[in-house]
Amino acid sequence: MTPLEDAQRLVLEACPPLAPVTVSSRDALGLVLADDVVAGEDVPPFANSAVDGYAVRAADLAAPPVELRVVAETAAGAAPYAATVGLGEAVRIMTGAALPPGVDAVAMVEDSERLGEDRVRISRSVPPGAAVRGVGEDVRRGETIFPAGTVVGPVVAGVLASVNAGQVRAVPAARVALVSTGDELVTDGRPLRPGQIRESNSRMLVPLLAAAGCVVDHLGTLPDDERILESTLRDAAATCDAVVTSGGVSMGDYDVVKAVLGRIADMRWMQVAIKPAKPFAFGLLDGTPIFGLPGNPVSSLISFELLARPALRRMMGHRHLMRQGLVAVTDVDLRRQTDGKVHLVRVNGSFTDDGRYHVVPVGAQGSHQLAATALADALVVLPDGDGVPAGADVAVLMLH
Ligand code: AMP
Ligand code: MG
Repeated sequence: MTPLEDAQRLVLEACPPLAPVTVSSRDALGLVLADDVVAGEDVPPFANSAVDGYAVRAADLAAPPVELRVVAETAAGAAPYAATVGLGEAVRIMTGAALPPGVDAVAMVEDSERLGEDRVRISRSVPPGAAVRGVGEDVRRGETIFPAGTVVGPVVAGVLASVNAGQVRAVPAARVALVSTGDELVTDGRPLRPGQIRESNSRMLVPLLAAAGCVVDHLGTLPDDERILESTLRDAAATCDAVVTSGGVSMGDYDVVKAVLGRIADMRWMQVAIKPAKPFAFGLLDGTPIFGLPGNPVSSLISFELLARPALRRMMGHRHLMRQGLVAVTDVDLRRQTDGKVHLVRVNGSFTDDGRYHVVPVGAQGSHQLAATALADALVVLPDGDGVPAGADVAVLMLH
């Protein structure tokens, strides 16, 4: 058996990051920046008011209350007040409006009383700079705002817009072909004939791939037919950055993925020392990484999570490859037998008053029992041995 770490290392080493591309910053959402982003503009681009109120000279308000003459009114988007605000004068100003020349602070409207068309009484003094948002207080032109390796999430996308970043260098999303195999699989909802089951792995793997940031090319569910499979896999390897297959990688006589890839690709057929998901294949077909996931639905999920997803994330430039890990407490005994494998126990978990994450296994742990797994929050990584008692610390990987 291959230790999990060895299998992971082998896969990761064969999946280097894709070549960066230049993309419109609008299309960069979800991608990883390949170069530092340097701001081309100041944010804010001009000094403006943080509140609705009166733009004033702070010195005028030294001894409140003070009456000032209101000489103008200005709002966000208006051209800045042209004249200089003089001693004893104020400008009614709205949030986001450019600060008029001559003033150095804004008194909040809550501290004012309008005395008619052109008079206002301000009841509180303000220090210079009060409620003023200075030029470049958020971002300075020329500043590196995001280093290479930053993931462009929604908030980063917002900042890129705020500095008018037109294009960025980023690692592209991996285009991943997905193929399920099995003569027994039914995809179209018709009544099952004896021996048939419903195909479920693609329905799970398509969104898992998409959620990992990949562009998915779902090539369908194929019969256990070597000729069809070979041409599909060759096309997939030629047009995609990676290929994921489901099923047919074990020791069975009809494991056609194994038969075909064994012939046309450079493959490693592994018995990974984990449960579930022992059979796993990885290799290169014409230089394109191929992940051969086992068909058992839970095994398919676990090997995707532990082996395929980290490698695909590496291809897309991510630096955090694995799911978030933490040390949790098991609330029940986690008993197991020594078998040379690390067990991945599907658990439900929650943070409780002690600030710790407490876990309890979901009911059914079989590699064909996807329904129970579907409700799991995390995987306990239970090392070989006879298990741990309730109250023990356990390593978990969060699934969401
Ligand atoms: P295999 O890895 O092809 O030997 O399949 C192992 C088990 O998983 C068998 O019971 C298959 O029927 C089942 N299986 C394989 N592929 C799928 C799939 N796409 N959806 C649901 N079950 C599957
Ligand atoms: Mg099969």
